[in-house]
Amino acid sequence: MRIVLVGPPGAGKGTQATRLAEKLRIPHISTGDLFRANISRQTELGKLAKSYMDAGNLVPDEVTIAMAKDRMEQPDAECGFLLDGFPRNVSQAEALDELLKTESIQLDAVLDLEAPEDEVVKRIAGRRICRKDSSHVFHVSYSPPKKEGVCDVCGGGLYQRDDDTEETVRTRLEVYHTQTEPIIDYYKAQGLVVTISALGAVDEVTERALEALE
Ligand code: ADP
Ligand code: ADP
Ligand code: ADP
Repeated sequence: MRIVLVGPPGAGKGTQATRLAEKLRIPHISTGDLFRANISRQTELGKLAKSYMDAGNLVPDEVTIAMAKDRMEQPDAECGFLLDGFPRNVSQAEALDELLKTESIQLDAVLDLEAPEDEVVKRIAGRRICRKDSSHVFHVSYSPPKKEGVCDVCGGGLYQRDDDTEETVRTRLEVYHTQTEPIIDYYKAQGLVVTISALGAVDEVTERALEALE
């Protein structure tokens, strides 16, 4: 399957993507995680991306599309993928369509995770991620690690993302409404969108997502 996951920052995209990817046996491709891995390796791409991310703005399309394309062309993504955080504006959606067309493949669904603003703000405020792998995600009250400050999955230290500050969250929500939400209409025109509520326990949302994708 080839799936795109959309939803506001903090809706639970990464959390659900990890689980859905495992169930559906497809790789989870998160452009946010790819950027954070570049930042921790201190690559040129990481240095460029960090200033945009810390301000809550989108990283320029040119580098983002090149990075996503490169990842989608890895052998493990040949039979399917779950895109998390890409595309994030209409021009990225168009670039993805071009790429799919040249490979003669199609998306199966665009899963839209809906969550009210007050909930995503609470989720982001308590989010803690692992230094070794930013796809290992916890929440101080909703999903605390077994040992405080330590990742259950790999033992890495947990920390708060530099862009999970109150001010940056406001910018990211604004960017979501103005730049990312339009891709939902773009994909509705292709008949691909399934919308589910992101509220409820993590397991419940996963069940809801799997049902919607059937
Ligand atoms: P969240 O899931 O909280 O929205 P992400 O990890 O998806 O956060 O993204 C964090 C930041 O990484 C974004 O605010 C943006 O700066 C950058 N980013 C991630 N994906 C993209 C993309 N497709 N295009 C541009 N910037 C991106
Ligand atoms: P996104 O990738 O959309 O930004 P995350 O998956 O990182 O969102 O989740 C944001 C925060 O909310 C994390 O701290 C995560 O542990 C928590 N979270 C995710 N799903 C739920 C849920 N269903 N209920 C409560 N908290 C959740
Ligand atoms: P594993 O079986 O490998 O421990 P899980 O399905 O328990 O995998 O978790 C996979 C990922 O999802 C981990 O990175 C974990 O931190 C995260 N995760 C698990 N449960 C939650 C939750 N309730 N809220 C947020 N993230 C979670």
